[in-house]
Amino acid sequence: MTWLDRQTFLGANSEQRLAEMTVGLVGLGGGNSHVAQQLAHVGVGNFVLADADDISLTNLNRLIGGTSWHVLKRTAKVAIMKGMILAINPKARVEIHRKQWQLAGDSFKRCDVIVGGLDNVRGKDELDAFCRRFLIPYIDQGMDVHKLGRGHGHLVAGQVVLSEPGSPCLRCMGIVTDEALAEESRKYGAAGGRPQVVWSNGVLASLAVGLVVQIVTPWSRRARPGAYLSFDGNSGLVAEAERFRRWNAASCPHYSSIAVGDPSFDIRKFVAGNVSAEPVPMRWTKWIMRSVRKWTSSE
Ligand SMILES: [Zn+2]
Repeated sequence: MTWLDRQTFLGANSEQRLAEMTVGLVGLGGGNSHVAQQLAHVGVGNFVLADADDISLTNLNRLIGGTSWHVLKRTAKVAIMKGMILAINPKARVEIHRKQWQLAGDSFKRCDVIVGGLDNVRGKDELDAFCRRFLIPYIDQGMDVHKLGRGHGHLVAGQVVLSEPGSPCLRCMGIVTDEALAEESRKYGAAGGRPQVVWSNGVLASLAVGLVVQIVTPWSRRARPGAYLSFDGNSGLVAEAERFRRWNAASCPHYSSIAVGDPSFDIRKFVAGNVSAEPVPMRWTKWIMRSVRKWTSSE
């Protein structure tokens, strides 16, 4: 018997697949704190976390794992998350970056899935572009509180979007638009804290975790790549977005299928004997040739 016995329905080798996978979490606010906690419970074995911020008093209404003690000590959010994950699964490997995710790009390139908990449009756009380049499925969460007319209170709404090769990107889905980017840069620095609540963050995060598990285990076959789940927090309903259902373009026009891989990678540097390229140290050449022989002979 193992601690994951109650989820064997996820399919053959699901425990091993989850233990071997690496999930990147960018932005450890309300949403991704739920995601971190749930993925630890599910048995995900490897995490890469990035967030530059320390916990503050106003995070206590929604940051899973955050305590008054952490506020007093001004603990970094990534450290709180690491502690929470390891308390659930001491075997997990958790790499933390107390900085912007862009400064830890090499670590995020290794991830099998990245889940974003960013509340700014530019950040979502950059992360989607990064994931498209490295063929990594990207799951974006977004939550907003809209003021309704006089006497009608507020509407809590949000969405979870899975952007991956073969599916519409965040621009196709209208999550990232030029107008939203322009509006955001106009208001830069004046936004203040956006309204957020723990329960709707939790709904969206649970949907995101469901998608991660769906991607990596044979539990449930997906009808098509990508996903766009829309949440109405006032009625409590989640539905596939109309825009996603209707999207039938042959391919996303924003990210070319050939614009992938590391732009700084230059294959000429790895070909021995090419005089126009920078010389490759001999020990590298020998290692590369040995590796190539090993790969080709084992297949
Ligand atoms: Zn697109």
